[in-house]
Formats: sequence, structure tokens, C-alpha cells
Amino acid sequence: MTELSLAYIFKQQQLLVDEHFQLPQVEKLNSDISFYSSDQVIARDLHIEEAIPEGYQLVPIRQLISQWSRVQFEQASRAVQLLEWRRNHKFCSHCGTETEAHASQYAMICPACNYHQYPRVQPCVITIITRGKDEILLAKNAKNQSKMYGLIAGFVEVGETLEQAVERETMEEIGLNLTNIQYLASQPWPFPSNLMIAFKAEYASGDIVLQQDEISDAQFFKFDALPEIPFAGSIAHAMIQHVIHNTPMPD
Ligand SMILES: [Zn+2]
Repeated sequence: MTELSLAYIFKQQQLLVDEHFQLPQVEKLNSDISFYSSDQVIARDLHIEEAIPEGYQLVPIRQLISQWSRVQFEQASRAVQLLEWRRNHKFCSHCGTETEAHASQYAMICPACNYHQYPRVQPCVITIITRGKDEILLAKNAKNQSKMYGLIAGFVEVGETLEQAVERETMEEIGLNLTNIQYLASQPWPFPSNLMIAFKAEYASGDIVLQQDEISDAQFFKFDALPEIPFAGSIAHAMIQHVIHNTPMPD
């Protein structure tokens, strides 16, 4: 079997996999519903009235990150983002005519005005802030009920450099000034279509002032006394390991 015969079948942010978390093979599904097939991606949504095939289950994509290799996860990310993009570009944003999928490119084309719509990624900066040689800043998301503490992150605004976005997000969310901002790595993140761009930075000045609707708590934690942190496979986890244990960032 080649990779091309594996199917990505989604229901919202869940993916159909077998009991070993493997993707179904198209030939075994005896499905008469056509797939969106382009390049390496064979993907479609599970239809509302469609039953889950025997031996399969719907698993949140976030959960698969700990079961799968990085390549598997990235392929699934790509599939879910392209499906989502296609779902949201059924009409021309210029003149409103119904669009058609381009035969060979990832593009939705308007038959009336020939406007081409391409998939877009949203750049999102995420920053690990150190203070001295043995402390990092971790923050609790106000919208998240779990005990997990994460890193400061936010979308890049129009007209901004990545470093400016790092400084602005940090000032807005916790009121601190940074110095020595350095790029670390990037990771595509399909919730819904982000490119996470990781930076490390050092605390420069200021007292922590929380942006209450975004952050419910933020503190500098000693390396050997961390709270619950983001799960393995997330870029935040890799960043924390990198700073504390000097492990390499994924490239
Ligand atoms: Zn048009």
C-alpha cells in the first residue's frame, strides 16, 4: 500500500482511525462517497448521517500528536487545514460567484472573474521568557479550565514584525518588557490554520500585570518546580525542554 491510499476522514477536529490509531485505507472502506483528492491528500468530512465504520473510532487530532510520528501528524494537519479552507471558500470573495477547485493547485477559482483564492496560514508567535539562569515565565489561560500553564502566544497583526508581535503580546498579556528576543523554530498547528513561530527572550523590566480576560495567572517558576505544562508534541513543550534541558528544538 502506498501512502496515497490512506484516507483522512474528519468530523470537526476529530479524525477516523482504527484501534491502533492508524488511518483507514480507502480500499477497505467500500465507501461510495468521493474524496477530495489532490497531491498527497485524500481527505473528506464524515457525513452527518454516515455511521462510523466497524473497528474505527473518532479521535481528536490533538490526542493523535502523542500517538503518531511527527510526519504523520504534519500530514494530517495539512489535510485538515486544506479541507477546512475548501469548506470556507465555496464562493468568490471578490464577486460572490460559486467557486471551483483548481485541477492541479490548492486554489479555488472564480469562473466569473477568475479570482484565485489560496490557502492562508496565520502566523502566531509563542515566547518562552527566562529570568536569570533558572526561571521561566508560565501563564494560565483564562478560558482554559485545566491546571495547565503555558507560554505567552498570540497572532501577528498586520504591519508587524515577528519580534514586535512578541513584545506587544507580552506587554498586553502580562505587562513585562523583554530583551534579547531570538528565533527558535516553527511548527504548523491545525487549530485552525496557524503557523506557530517560537522565540526565546529574557525578562528586562516590569511587574506582572495580568490581562484578566486572557490570563488568569502568570508567574516565574524555578526549573525544578514547574506546574503542569503543555503535552509532549506541542511546540510549547519542546521550547520548555529546550530551555531547561538544552534539548534541540525540532527543525
Ligand atoms: Zn469572482
